[in-house]
Amino acid sequence: MFHRPARAASFDSAFFQLPDTLLVTMDYAGRVERLSVGLLEVMGYDPEQFHGTPFVEIVHPDDREATTARLRELAEKGETARFPARCRHGDGRYVGLIWNAAASAEEGLIYASAHPTAMSLTDDEATVPDAYLDGLTGLPNRSLFLDRVEHTWQRSRRRGDVRFAVLQVGLDRFKLINESLGHRLGDLLLSHVGNALRSVIRPTDMVARLGGDEFALLLEDIRDASSTLRVVQRIQERLTLPFTLHEHEVHTSVSIGIAVNHPDEGSGEGGADETPDQYLRDADIAMHRAKKRGGAGYVVFDPQMHDQAVRRLKLEMDLRKAVDLGQLEAFYQPIVRLADGRLNGFEALARWRHPEQGLISPVEFIPVAEESGLIAPIGHWMIGETCRRAARWDRDFPDHPPLTVSVNLSPRQLIRRELVPEVEALLEASGFPAERLKLEITESAVLEDADASLAQLNRLKGLGIRLSLDDFGTGYSSLSYLHQLPIDVLKVDRSFVSGVDGDGHHRGFVETIIGLARHLDLEVICEGVESEEQARILREMGCDYAQGFLYSRPVAENEARILIASGVGS
Ligand code: C2E
Ligand code: CA
Ligand code: CA
Repeated sequence: MFHRPARAASFDSAFFQLPDTLLVTMDYAGRVERLSVGLLEVMGYDPEQFHGTPFVEIVHPDDREATTARLRELAEKGETARFPARCRHGDGRYVGLIWNAAASAEEGLIYASAHPTAMSLTDDEATVPDAYLDGLTGLPNRSLFLDRVEHTWQRSRRRGDVRFAVLQVGLDRFKLINESLGHRLGDLLLSHVGNALRSVIRPTDMVARLGGDEFALLLEDIRDASSTLRVVQRIQERLTLPFTLHEHEVHTSVSIGIAVNHPDEGSGEGGADETPDQYLRDADIAMHRAKKRGGAGYVVFDPQMHDQAVRRLKLEMDLRKAVDLGQLEAFYQPIVRLADGRLNGFEALARWRHPEQGLISPVEFIPVAEESGLIAPIGHWMIGETCRRAARWDRDFPDHPPLTVSVNLSPRQLIRRELVPEVEALLEASGFPAERLKLEITESAVLEDADASLAQLNRLKGLGIRLSLDDFGTGYSSLSYLHQLPIDVLKVDRSFVSGVDGDGHHRGFVETIIGLARHLDLEVICEGVESEEQARILREMGCDYAQGFLYSRPVAENEARILIASGVGS
């Protein structure tokens, strides 16, 4: 046997007892000295099985030569080495492992630690322990991926010059594919995509499935940014080819978020709160950016995005409480009859009185509400609040001709099954007559799922309420389908109205819309009227109603009461 100097036995043993630590020591000739408990368990070995036998005996025959060479080099030069090797499991299968080894000349020993990798999963003989794998695709799962990122990150901290990139890849419109083709084909697609991703990277890099339609890639030891972008390009080229799933040819595209480490800054102040899983979070933020831009593209993470994402998250958390804390308010903007300038009704517009940030515009928080699902409770509150107020106005101003009120309805609200019974209950509770409530929808809300939306709109009409098509002219504006919609009012978007007193272009458009509306027996409201000149032109064109700063900005309820009492514009 070889010479072995005394060591701090307890320290040493502790490492070998850690359950997840895959460790082996061998002498300079490569004979196994000791295996850690973790390695014995993960590999299904007997404790005494390999003592004194050459390490390479557990290595796959094809990897033996390279492994032997690396170990010999280690023994001669006494540095560190990193190499992949498939190793035989107790049950005869092979497990892909990445080894990191160091020589200790003092002890005459080589220390080697391992972690599982997907590098040879293409090889049927090699496997990773099941707990590390995604059941559907057979790829490493999130925990193995993070483990590997951590490993790489540690290495980059030690060495300072290791560059790596974490990519998050999401399928565009997967939900749609899943719903239209069924979950079985959806699953099949995911496993095809997993294979495709694996086929475009180097064997030593890792592809993992994070869950849902999201995958992650770790590219190690990249030379520069362009080598990462080349991988991105290969991914996108591969994934624009259609997949054939049974008889279906499915076209997909992916959005990719990229986070790269900055090895030189790692130990500086910028890297103080840096953690390995942060790379995946950053890649996630960048991927969602890429999706927002319409998909089929990539975005490289930068720290500004992080700040924005944090701010956005805080906004969402605050908004979640805003409804309960009574921080939401409805403002009211008058709608007047152009012929005589009399007040016809109000559009209710949401405002958020934030304790620190003051009054927040709906342009800022409605999109957050829509994405987080909070639009349902907010929209519900807006309808209830508006009906309650308007019922009160009826009682307090019995001499005023009956006023209408309009409330905006977002696409997310329109698809909710509960919407119709909820609106019905709110009308009943407030005592406000349905005929004087209008709900404003946009063209995009209707087009998203035309059949379902149409059915829902008809149900709303069944309650006796009226419907307005908002922002008309800005969407798809297919005039041909207008007559199919159960709407009563067209609201011409501000962008056209603001141009009616300029050259002829917008004027012609607005005139056409007014003519068309008359033909279809729809009421027309022009939005964003700011000048007397615009009002005059619209009146001459035969437009019924107008709304805009010329008459009043949206105002709080107490001011709305003053407007009612004085009769705006009259
Ligand atoms: P919108 O439904 O098109 O509402 C009209 C917007 O135009 C309002 O902005 C109003 O203040 C503004 N506006 C009215 N007249 C003029 C004018 O003469 N000049 C100019 N420059 N602007 C004018 P606001 O209140 O900031 O609301 C913005 C958008 O937020 C609304 O556009 C609507 O899409 C959304 N929103 C507001 N409240 C709600 C709500 O309760 N639910 C939903 N789903 N969306 C809402
Ligand atoms: Ca509106
Ligand atoms: Ca509008």
